[in-house]
Amino acid sequence: MKCPFCKKPQQTRVVDSRTIKEGRSVRRRRECLKCKERFTTYEELELLRLTVIKRDGTREEYNREKVESGLRRALKKRPVSEEQIEQLIAQIEYDIQSKEKREMKSRTIGKIIMNHLRDVDDVAFIRFASVYKSVGSADSFRKVIQDVMRDE
Ligand SMILES: [Zn+2]
Repeated sequence: MKCPFCKKPQQTRVVDSRTIKEGRSVRRRRECLKCKERFTTYEELELLRLTVIKRDGTREEYNREKVESGLRRALKKRPVSEEQIEQLIAQIEYDIQSKEKREMKSRTIGKIIMNHLRDVDDVAFIRFASVYKSVGSADSFRKVIQDVMRDE
């Protein structure tokens, strides 16, 4: 990455990143490790093409922003870096892609997210699982937790 202040390729640290434009690009706030100046980059994302079948049966296009905001809510004030969040999203999308499906139930995506989240942070995992199951009963919530725990 070329630092606009040093004008040379330097190592940078990502201090903040947000997926924008309906999940089509990511805005990253970077800090040059050499001169400590901060700058912003806009990077295009490879779009994951997938139709999501929602709980009520309606369909919508997969949107990275939605996955990211759900993750950020769950990870709020948890000790995870921007790099970890980005890596988490990349792993989730890689998993979805590797199933080679054109349509996927939101429930299946939720499980994939929970599987990865569990590896990163227990508290965030429980938070996400409870929001995700908010429409169901306590029983079905428990079942989902058990399901996720089981299919390692
Ligand atoms: Zn610099």
